[in-house]
Amino acid sequence: MNTITIALTKGRILEETLPILAAAGIEPAEDIKKSRKLIFKTNQPQVQLLVLRGSDVSTYVEFGAADMGVAGKDMLLEHGGRGIYEPLDLGIARCRLMTAGLKGQSTPSGRIKVATKFVNIAKQYYASQGRQADIIKLYGAMELAPIMNLADEIVDIVDTGNTLLANGLEPREHIADVSSRVIVNKASMKMKHAHIQSLLDDFAKAVV
Ligand code: AMP
Repeated sequence: MNTITIALTKGRILEETLPILAAAGIEPAEDIKKSRKLIFKTNQPQVQLLVLRGSDVSTYVEFGAADMGVAGKDMLLEHGGRGIYEPLDLGIARCRLMTAGLKGQSTPSGRIKVATKFVNIAKQYYASQGRQADIIKLYGAMELAPIMNLADEIVDIVDTGNTLLANGLEPREHIADVSSRVIVNKASMKMKHAHIQSLLDDFAKAVV
């Protein structure tokens, strides 16, 4: 059998992915959470793991540098899904993509400024609403943008809403529900079909 490379998203998604891999019989050869390595062998000689930023997982899978991946739906929507199948929802790391703004302030009418790291999602969302928006790319701490008058609204991940609340913001519109998905490179799906399908079956059993 060919080697299968699976790109994982580090952080909270990784924490929730490892038990699913374990239930599917895949154990990293060393403690992923404690190591600074980026590539890990597993107890299965034909399976290796990469640990990446969420925004890079779909890129690795798109270009076939990884055969499979686990990434949040937010990252997949932002990437656009070129060259990728998304066969399985793991149902982990659930949250929502939302617009948010300063508490008690309504969205100004007309052209607005929106700060986000989800530039493509935001462009598509405001266009679908028929609203004109100038999108400002940020890499973190989006909540600060409306406070400092950099933007009228943000597009961000919301889980409990505590981060928004702590910064005097409130959620406004729901854009999409997010959970982590298994993705597969389209060419790998053809070339390594039997192995990938058996891994997908094992993951599916592990999440029911
Ligand atoms: P909360 O305060 O619970 O609404 O969490 C908000 C922050 O936690 C967001 O700004 C995100 O950066 C992060 N976050 C929460 N849930 C997730 C998730 N499932 N995936 C990625 N980031 C998340």
